[in-house]
Amino acid sequence: MIIVMKSGSPEMEIERISAELETWGLKPEKIVGRYKVVIGLVGDTAELEKERLQELSPWIESVLRVEQPFKRASREFRHGESSEVVVSTPNGPVTFGEHHPIVVVAGPCSVENEEMIIETALRVKAAGAKFLRGGAYKPRTSPYAFQGHGESALHLLAAAKQVSGLGVITEVMDAADLEKLAEVADVIQIGARNMQNFSLLKKVGAQGKPVLLKRGMSATIEEWLMAAEYILAAGNPNVILCERGIRSFDREHTRNTLDLAAVPVLRHLTHLPIMVDPSHGTGWAEYVPAMAKAAIAAGTDSLMIEVHPNPAKALSDGPQSLTPERFDQLMKELSIIGNAVGRWPQPVPALV
Ligand code: PEP
Ligand code: MN
Repeated sequence: MIIVMKSGSPEMEIERISAELETWGLKPEKIVGRYKVVIGLVGDTAELEKERLQELSPWIESVLRVEQPFKRASREFRHGESSEVVVSTPNGPVTFGEHHPIVVVAGPCSVENEEMIIETALRVKAAGAKFLRGGAYKPRTSPYAFQGHGESALHLLAAAKQVSGLGVITEVMDAADLEKLAEVADVIQIGARNMQNFSLLKKVGAQGKPVLLKRGMSATIEEWLMAAEYILAAGNPNVILCERGIRSFDREHTRNTLDLAAVPVLRHLTHLPIMVDPSHGTGWAEYVPAMAKAAIAAGTDSLMIEVHPNPAKALSDGPQSLTPERFDQLMKELSIIGNAVGRWPQPVPALV
């Protein structure tokens, strides 16, 4: 349930109502929106009468029941307003959200060595990316495939971060690695295969770094939002949702089916920022640019693109990785669409 306060409600009144609700065994959560303050209520509210809440104060404008099973993740919980995730990076804070420029995250699938991660970081930064991605711990279908360099790759990410000033996004697979990973990562990625690893979700929810939650390859949108709810319920409000393609019947021409309809659907259902990953979404570098452009037109807040200095030699996901040159060109193409939707940080450069 949510309690919408009238504009200009005194702070003391909001505190008084919240304290009263706590004595009822509820967990009131104050949400300060652009226009209104809302008190979110999660807990056993099924028997609670709206009228009883309304009577608590003349400053209460309305009391609404959140109909969705995902409560904190639902757009209703913030009374229709989008939330922002502000991430601090060495180059300054970067904001993910509906009312902000599109944030581009780029880098290799895996961190392979110092030279390649630093070269990639500098190239993607020069092209306009704000975050470097790169896996230290890789979820691979085969136990015999390259599993990532682990802790030593975290040190390489730290070096690339220092040289480039970019924020770092990297995946956690095992909660035991969370602490050391969080020393380097500005955003912690939960991969598609762990989207419903509920104990891991609770743990990333209980720490302070923002979380990028990728959609499970067979997850419905509701299951995905319920996974986000685990993180929010554990106390971490900073969750970004990443559509990365779902499993469908055609695996010959595309690796996954990028569900772009998820973008407007999420916008309708949730206040959380949205990212699209056309690299895993298509599986082929030649299809990435078209879907990246389409994702911006569809309303995404952010893009994740795999870039590798030599895709033919990549230890993972080479076929879907762009060269730095192709990424440069793509960023110019994206600026046209980004400007058309009023969400690109710079004006359109000359296309070469
Ligand atoms: C990745 O980002 O490299 C990755 C493994 O992604 P996903 O979890 O979406 O497959
Ligand atoms: Mn990958």
